[in-house]
Amino acid sequence: MAQEDTFKKLVAHCKEYGYVFPSSEIYDGLGAVYDYGQHGVELKNNIKRYWWESMTLLHDNIVGLDSAIFMHPSTWKASGHVDAFNDPLIDNKDSKKRYRADVLIEEHAAKYEEKAEKEIEKARERFGEHFDEALFRQTNPRVAAYIEKRDDLLSRLSDALNANDLAALRQLVIDNQIVCPVSGTCNWTEVRQFNLMFATEMGSTAEGSSKIYLRPETAQGIFVNFLNVQKSGRMKIPFGIAQIGKAFRNEIVARQFIFRVREFEQMEMQYFVPPGAGIEWFHRWRDLRLQWHLALGFAPSAYRLHDHDKLAHYADAATDIEFRFPFGFKEVEGIHSRTDFDLRRHQEFSGKKMQYFDPSLGVSYIPHVVETSIGVDRMFLQVISASYREEVVAAGDTRVLLALPPALAPVKLAVLPLVKKDGLPEKAGEITRRLRLDYPCHYDEKDSIGKRYRRQDAIGTPFCVTVDHLSLQENTVTIRYRDTMQQERVAIDRLPDIIDEKASLKTLLRLLPSL
Ligand code: ATP
Repeated sequence: MAQEDTFKKLVAHCKEYGYVFPSSEIYDGLGAVYDYGQHGVELKNNIKRYWWESMTLLHDNIVGLDSAIFMHPSTWKASGHVDAFNDPLIDNKDSKKRYRADVLIEEHAAKYEEKAEKEIEKARERFGEHFDEALFRQTNPRVAAYIEKRDDLLSRLSDALNANDLAALRQLVIDNQIVCPVSGTCNWTEVRQFNLMFATEMGSTAEGSSKIYLRPETAQGIFVNFLNVQKSGRMKIPFGIAQIGKAFRNEIVARQFIFRVREFEQMEMQYFVPPGAGIEWFHRWRDLRLQWHLALGFAPSAYRLHDHDKLAHYADAATDIEFRFPFGFKEVEGIHSRTDFDLRRHQEFSGKKMQYFDPSLGVSYIPHVVETSIGVDRMFLQVISASYREEVVAAGDTRVLLALPPALAPVKLAVLPLVKKDGLPEKAGEITRRLRLDYPCHYDEKDSIGKRYRRQDAIGTPFCVTVDHLSLQENTVTIRYRDTMQQERVAIDRLPDIIDEKASLKTLLRLLPSL
């Protein structure tokens, strides 16, 4: 199935099974804003708990924070967001559609890569098992030409962005004859900068009100509270502050479902280290964060690290953890070495010292910061798209399955009486009541057992427990495993251990190294 079709099916599946709905759908929705349904909110909460506990439970020196969305307007002057949080936008004069010029160019570069990959695939089919991909990449002139074109384009893009040269950006679009996907023409406007922050007024009267912003990232709430946390928690450097919260960006082009939305949640951790130690900690955090992703059990080949050529104004090193979405490899998480930029700027703008006295060195300094920043919604999409499968079970019989990592699954087990009589519903109700304080359970007695299994497969429930007549005599049930569809007869008393071993967050957290 084409990747695009899979993606469409995934979006439809999310709606049908209560994961994600378009916001205000009865009014035809609101651009790039989504609501999470009954299963979506549970998956989201589980992702957040996995992150939060991996930060705060596994590290003595990382503590949490919940800062407000509204912040003093000077915060965003100091952070550079008022002056530099811009995207270069370009309009097509025929379709009147608006695009990010850098994204148009990046997508064009990705097409060269796709062409090279196609050549490689063709050759693989032709040469069979004797195919040497590395040699073919080096020696095939067509592949080499595509890769050279891609690299050249990306390097010119990087130069133009670094120099903030909007005319050069437009020229790249023109020179490469990049057309609007809607009108198919190359009739472009100039490139303009567009600030992504949402602004609103605070205060009741026009004279007394002032312009404030909805935060575009949660990080600044951590920076301005750095000394509050350090002093009240008697924290010693190195230490970290973790926060989960909403962020808002007026994205120019919001496509690809919940990948890029205007209201989203971030999970950010700022790690404060001595000057000169930033790069070392950057590498350590990059490894640790990759392990966090890999522990979920998806194919390691679906992840890659992408080091930035163009660094944000605050960073001296940056890497993205990218995941292979149905629409290609894209950033899920960013790890940045932010130097002392933020704390220094807040010191300048507030006039308050943002320094730490280091007892081991006997000096005061502005700490440097390593940041890990991941979007909850993007991680949600990553998990869902990696889990979605259509499996042929028998001739003419396909099942749709969300093979979610069990620890993240919104419903851990479904309890299903085989028939709606003979005391089986009562027995199943008893089991549900016994387990539901520890694990989210579904009780379901409607339709045939086969249909009920399929319903749970589509939700992603890892275990179905079926109560039959033998259950009344022996106190046993059959447990059916979602991924293998295998069934096993087990004592009811063993259920908590089985679920714990395979589906508890603890099991997942145990796989993780800490610093
Ligand atoms: P992109 O290049 O995709 O716009 P970014 O580099 O601007 O992302 P950061 O500012 O580093 O992103 O934000 C950290 C994380 O927050 C990203 O890795 C992503 O997971 C998430 N994020 C950022 N913008 C959005 C958005 N509009 N919608 C959903 N998640 C987002």
